[in-house]
Amino acid sequence: MKKLLIVIAAMSLIACKQTKPSTAIVQNQNFDAYKENFINSLWTIYPNWASSIGFHKNDSLLTIPDDAQRKKEIAFAESQLDSLKLFNIDSLNNQNKTDFYLIENQLKSSIWSINKFKSYQWNPAQYNVSEGFAEIINNNYAPLAQRLAAVKERLKSVPAYYEAAKKNILNPTAEHTALAIDQNTGGLSVFEVDLVQALTKSSISAQEKEKITSLSKDAISAIQSYCTFLKELKNEQPKSFRIGKELYEEKFAFDIQSNYTAQGIYEKAIIHKKELHQKMYAITKQLWPKYFATENCPSDSLIAIKKMIDRLSVEHVKPSEFQAAIDKQIPMLVEFIKNKNLIYIDPSKPLVVRKEPAYMAGVAGASISSPGPYDKNGNTYYNVGSLSGWDEATAESYLREYNQYILQILNIHEAIPGHYTQLVYANQSPSLIKSILGNGAMIEGWAVYTEKMMLENGYGNNDPAMWLMYYKWNLRSTCNTIIDYSIQVNNMQKEAVIDLLTKEAFQQQAEAEGKWKRATLTQVQLCSYFTGFTEIVDLREAIKIKEKEQFDLKKFHETFLSFGSAPVKYIAELMQ
Ligand code: ZN
Ligand code: ZN
Repeated sequence: MKKLLIVIAAMSLIACKQTKPSTAIVQNQNFDAYKENFINSLWTIYPNWASSIGFHKNDSLLTIPDDAQRKKEIAFAESQLDSLKLFNIDSLNNQNKTDFYLIENQLKSSIWSINKFKSYQWNPAQYNVSEGFAEIINNNYAPLAQRLAAVKERLKSVPAYYEAAKKNILNPTAEHTALAIDQNTGGLSVFEVDLVQALTKSSISAQEKEKITSLSKDAISAIQSYCTFLKELKNEQPKSFRIGKELYEEKFAFDIQSNYTAQGIYEKAIIHKKELHQKMYAITKQLWPKYFATENCPSDSLIAIKKMIDRLSVEHVKPSEFQAAIDKQIPMLVEFIKNKNLIYIDPSKPLVVRKEPAYMAGVAGASISSPGPYDKNGNTYYNVGSLSGWDEATAESYLREYNQYILQILNIHEAIPGHYTQLVYANQSPSLIKSILGNGAMIEGWAVYTEKMMLENGYGNNDPAMWLMYYKWNLRSTCNTIIDYSIQVNNMQKEAVIDLLTKEAFQQQAEAEGKWKRATLTQVQLCSYFTGFTEIVDLREAIKIKEKEQFDLKKFHETFLSFGSAPVKYIAELMQ
């Protein structure tokens, strides 16, 4: 045994100097072993993160967010970065190469976050234990008695958790402070309702139940005390929620992992918005006589476009037919893709359309639920919300937004060939690293790209009304980038943001208000849709130019997706 190890070590030494095929095999085997080790250590350092994605071995642990923990996280990241240096990236296969980049980015990002971004000081909403407890109490991954035992251990750390949180808080933003009070207060129901119900159902001893109840009371007091602390905090000049140019560029680089800078993609979005407006006005003028025979088309292009969109939005399904309409469209999308030869869709993995489960209710529309990385046998569902019980005005406004045109684009984005299809391909080259650290801009970018690609290939019979509505939908992700950058970097004020979204992106007041709030609480994520989309279109056009008549769209899509949820810039490198 020992002899063999020495031989392997000697082979690795040679590997650095010459690239024999056999050394590549060894490097990849070593890297596979490294990855397994990395993930195991990751879950020891971050048990909260672990249970949130379905790894439940460390559920009884709740990390205390204090200095010692931050030191531990930095030491972990530094030693893992050292380990990465032992690998020669050129000898790794594509799967491992992209995994390498994702791990390296995650480690550097966590060091940056502690040493420079420091949201642990200014974002009090970062501290909230209720979600973690809800996951353990409500998810049926193990017998209830076992889960309650983990809850019991975990509860013991809650008071120390919030004491550490209080110590961390330094000149927080007003917005994140309000959010922290809201969310922590809302989270009390996990202890006051969910846990009480679980205890009633459980057959553990009365004595055990009493112990857990008493620990839960201490946890409730700790949460309440944190909320009181935040309400009474003397913070006359709260920090601005706007993070500014330098931090924004750095966060963009870590979160999006793009070849573009934040400013670069912002400038691209401004130009794209202008082009969309031009195309939309041309369609509006073309359609005008059909819908407004007696009226003149307004010379103000934005007013004219809005009028045409409002007119077309009246074409929508009845509230009672909303789910059926979505159900009916899925096989039509599959059929279209087959006929046009756009991408192979595995018939053995049909999408399960289901009525939205109760715990999601209220979030009407449609969404994809995919099983977590540790739930291999779980189904992927397309959850479709029901509008039953909605009052007439709310339902009408919702259905105008998701009118007969937009509803089809939504199905393309969420299901086929958008998120669902991407997921099926990603599962064919399974990588635990990518399902944990997968790139959001690639995932969203693909879904946004498929909307355009389907219409380009004739989906909707090139109906100008369909194109107009698609452009409106595309304006949403374009303007997400514009407002996020403008708010965080260029000090754009609320009134100007609402104005831009309602007048130039044709959104409803309520949607625009919601977007403003989201942009004050998060940074960069809103850029992921447009950045990923732009990079995929860039890549496709570059390959088209290179391959000329040889270019095959189906092959392009299948190759692109075969790399899994890796950043587009690395996929582009490997494809070119
Ligand atoms: Zn109506
Ligand atoms: Zn999406």
